[in-house]
Amino acid sequence: MRGMMMDRPLRVADILTYAEEMYAFEGIVSNTVEGGIHRESYAEMGTRARQMAKAMLALGLGHGDRIATLAWNGYRHMELYYAIPGIGGICHTLNPRLSAEQMIYITNHAEDRAMFLDLTFAPLVEKLAPQFPQMQYVVMTDAANMPQTALPNVHCYEDLLAAQDADYDWPDCDENDAAGLCYTSGTTGNPKGALYSHRSQVLHALLVGVSMQNAMRVGKRMLPVVPLFHANSWGAAHAAPLTGATLVMPGPHLDGASVWELMQAEDVFAAWGVPTVWLGLLEEIKKRGAKPDGFAEVVVGGSAAAPSLIQGFEELGVNVCHAWGMTEMSPIGSLGQLSGPHAALPAEEQLKLKSTQGRRVFGVDFKIVDENGARQPHDGASTGELYVRGPTIISGYHNNAQASAAAIDAEGWFGTGDVATIDPEGFLTITDRAKDLIKSGGEWISSIDVENMALAHPDVANCAVIAVPHPKWDERPVLVAVPAVAAPDAGAILAHLAANLAKWQVPDDVIFVDELPLTATGKVSKLTLRERFRDHALSG
Ligand code: AMP
Repeated sequence: MRGMMMDRPLRVADILTYAEEMYAFEGIVSNTVEGGIHRESYAEMGTRARQMAKAMLALGLGHGDRIATLAWNGYRHMELYYAIPGIGGICHTLNPRLSAEQMIYITNHAEDRAMFLDLTFAPLVEKLAPQFPQMQYVVMTDAANMPQTALPNVHCYEDLLAAQDADYDWPDCDENDAAGLCYTSGTTGNPKGALYSHRSQVLHALLVGVSMQNAMRVGKRMLPVVPLFHANSWGAAHAAPLTGATLVMPGPHLDGASVWELMQAEDVFAAWGVPTVWLGLLEEIKKRGAKPDGFAEVVVGGSAAAPSLIQGFEELGVNVCHAWGMTEMSPIGSLGQLSGPHAALPAEEQLKLKSTQGRRVFGVDFKIVDENGARQPHDGASTGELYVRGPTIISGYHNNAQASAAAIDAEGWFGTGDVATIDPEGFLTITDRAKDLIKSGGEWISSIDVENMALAHPDVANCAVIAVPHPKWDERPVLVAVPAVAAPDAGAILAHLAANLAKWQVPDDVIFVDELPLTATGKVSKLTLRERFRDHALSG
């Protein structure tokens, strides 16, 4: 017997309609590309998104069209997040930190028909434009700031918008229609597209809303440093309007000082981003001698948050929530929000739990399997590759049958490529990306474990542990470190590691560098480091 409930589709546009009606007094504060702060309520955002939807229809865009954005976090980008799926289009967020070759590949692979770009990116897009002969361009600015540009088929965002009224009803759609597209940064091979549906986006907004109740509620202001072009800004773009939280958008101003000032001026409660961003903010806080006044929660994800980073914030009275996920998962998989008995534990025990990647969110199932595909127990000790399943996880990659087949196992689970343990209470610990693990003399070494330990040494500001080929042991670990002091002591760092690790886990060498190479999503690029130091002569 089937249930007798209305078969109404879950639509992205319904989030905005709800915010317009219920939270007209909340909205978006943006540090703009043009300069200055812009404020817009969710009511105004609803009106402008409907005007933009009509403008896109007038440009000949419509159902099934992939429409790219190349933009920072700001109010116009948010309007497009709703206007594009609102006309049946697919909002394809392009990552401006990718190489030109990758951008060309992705844009052509997605078959984008139009591209909305921030002023910042006009020179870059002018260079790429010959590769996209049919493209229409919209510069996300007003007439006064419209640049002289050689781009063909180019329009000004505010002019397009001003030519339309807001008399537009979001059309019904199939909830399984595509609504968003985001390519993984792909450290090997070509980037692959995660194609989100209306249904997955709405469900993801709901699961983020219920999991992040400290920040996701009326009266709270949250700042996503994580970009709208990286996996839906981890769900902030949808969960904030859904729950009535106000978004404070940093635009292109992402350095520690700018983030600190914006947080202080706008009374930001929570901020989300990758560890490298938070190392910068902690530096700034140290320099100024104080955190931004209202700052009470930081969500750290994208790569492992070291216990020293977590402790740095906790000592300031800022609650740290360690998040794990993937572009392919919309992206949230697990969160380290402690509650119940876990929140009552002594600080030291809490720090241990917060250093794990937290517990799964509703709707995401976990299994860990060994190399033969056999399930491993969730006993906190057995390791294996983590597989996930749920309605916010891809069932394959856009237009890529080969990668799709490789990604999904016989039981229909998605293989994350992460190696993990899960304890009996459900706390997930990612020990490594499978390809970043170091195999020395037949034993696995977790690069994350060694990095966390190294970061606890006062001479180390940031670091990565990588494998270097070794004739006897296959691979040996090497610590590549950005020093925190003028004269770092490699011997003292290694002695500190030796005191805390098994002998064979201690890196053979410390290489000091001025900075670590980052991927397009702000993570340390171990691939680049491995290539750079492939021939490094080990001293041991
Ligand atoms: P992306 O799709 O760019 O978000 O990258 C997803 C990958 O980032 C995951 O498969 C993990 O390898 C890594 N990652 C994300 N969050 C964390 C975390 N909290 N700890 C460790 N690794 C993480």
